[in-house]
Amino acid sequence: MRATLIYGAGDVRVEDVPDPVLHEPTDALVRVLRSCICGSDLWPYGSRPASEQGDRIGHEFLGVVEDVGADVSGLTAGDLVVAPFVWADNTCDFCREGLQTSCRHGGFWGANGVDGGQGEAVRVPQAQGTLVKLPVGEDSALLPSLLSLSDVYPTGHHCAVTAGVGPRTTVTVIGDGAVGLCAVLAAKRLGAEQIILMGRHQGRTDLGRDFGATDVVAERGDEGVAKVLELTGGDGTHTVLECVGLRPAIETAFAVARSGGTVSRVGAPQYPEVPMGFEEFRRNVTLTGGIAPARAYIEELLPDVLAGEVEPGRVFDTVIGLDEVPAGYQAMADRTALKVLIRP
Ligand SMILES: [Zn+2]
Repeated sequence: MRATLIYGAGDVRVEDVPDPVLHEPTDALVRVLRSCICGSDLWPYGSRPASEQGDRIGHEFLGVVEDVGADVSGLTAGDLVVAPFVWADNTCDFCREGLQTSCRHGGFWGANGVDGGQGEAVRVPQAQGTLVKLPVGEDSALLPSLLSLSDVYPTGHHCAVTAGVGPRTTVTVIGDGAVGLCAVLAAKRLGAEQIILMGRHQGRTDLGRDFGATDVVAERGDEGVAKVLELTGGDGTHTVLECVGLRPAIETAFAVARSGGTVSRVGAPQYPEVPMGFEEFRRNVTLTGGIAPARAYIEELLPDVLAGEVEPGRVFDTVIGLDEVPAGYQAMADRTALKVLIRP
């Protein structure tokens, strides 16, 4: 089969790889119907040292079950399923606590002999715990929104939940990438009163307004902070959802958090230390967030997606075939594409 491998910064290739087969009785084989490129794939795409040996990549996919191991129940060939971006047994103590990203028997796609999602098929470890059945057909118009349940929508939701977004809370979302926009959608769904989206790409912030942003701040740095403070009577917002992962974003997050407020970060941090000192202490600002246990949220988020009440799949603005994946990475790196959907 064909699959995507990354060899180094700027070097992504689509190559022939061995067809996946069942290794463990807990495995399933899934033929990929839709996959996509993640903002977090851009970190290795920007900086990975060159290597002789490529690594499989991609961690968001939905597809059709082709075969299951002897210990997998509840799934049969022909089922349409979505996979969260971390696989997990969904039964261990961490999983039962809703932290499937710390599963004792789980792991990441594209690592330690596990397939990546940007290919024609995937061997899914711990399939019964990992995969969630979707009650739609292969030609459903909902596939992009259902694919967003792999990562970006639950990640935005996790950011909002850990920050404590609810009715009567005010929210600042930092970042107009797919996760930031999904965080807006999640904050709206959780009843937030005011949602200020900080982003400077107008096409994206327009989608953010459709998703529920009440205000958009295009300025960055001190100017951006001043704008948010102006919109909040000088106080900042109860919650700040940091969906970028760069140091200026976390600095802005603290600066626009209201006293007693909470900053949640879900952008994989590309900085070694959190700039959290006496000023944040003085104002009783809390820092939370982390890698999103997408699996914990899929059942909760699924009904609104199936009903068409939310359309997180609108973050996909580019659709490509598998052979165009290298160009898709470049388009996302160049910010000419917001999020690239792959039809293998
Ligand atoms: Zn587990």
